[in-house]
Amino acid sequence: MIMEKKRRAIYPGSFDPVTFGHLDVIARATHLFDSVIIAVAVSEGKVPLFSVEDRIQMLKESTSDNPAIEVVPLSGLLVDFACEHDVFTVIRGLRAVSDFEFEFQMALMNRKLEARLETVFLTPKEDYTYLSSRIVKEVARLGGDVSPFVPAPAARKLREILK
Ligand code: ADP
Repeated sequence: MIMEKKRRAIYPGSFDPVTFGHLDVIARATHLFDSVIIAVAVSEGKVPLFSVEDRIQMLKESTSDNPAIEVVPLSGLLVDFACEHDVFTVIRGLRAVSDFEFEFQMALMNRKLEARLETVFLTPKEDYTYLSSRIVKEVARLGGDVSPFVPAPAARKLREILK
């Protein structure tokens, strides 16, 4: 019997907080891969609004219906995480040309650091191409309704943290 290797992928990001754009990319990734590890970056250049625990919690609550999805913290280099988990496919979302330059640079840098690493770019449904965690936080800060843009656990946490 031929045993097929399970196809796994890592979807790294800040998810500060998770939006319907991220969930759209995650859904597409789960159609292409047997399982997806969502790797939530602990610290980055930018200071996140939510702690990594909160960001993980929001993602877990929003993806709990799919057992093929795992949500874990990511500290340090993505390539080290990839080697530790023995998963060399990275998912990133591309919304518009404006994402391209940064994503292209990251993908090539990651491959320089670890030759086995491949980045797969997925584009969301057109309705989500304007969505970013940053703009959602801005709307929430100014008292706008964010429920069309983020899943319920994230809308709740945004209300809590900004009140
Ligand atoms: P970063 O890792 O740059 O902090 P995010 O956590 O906001 O970015 O997003 C992680 C990944 O998801 C990135 O590849 C980003 O381009 C992508 N992404 C973010 N928002 C959307 C969206 N609305 N549609 C598709 N992809 C998105």
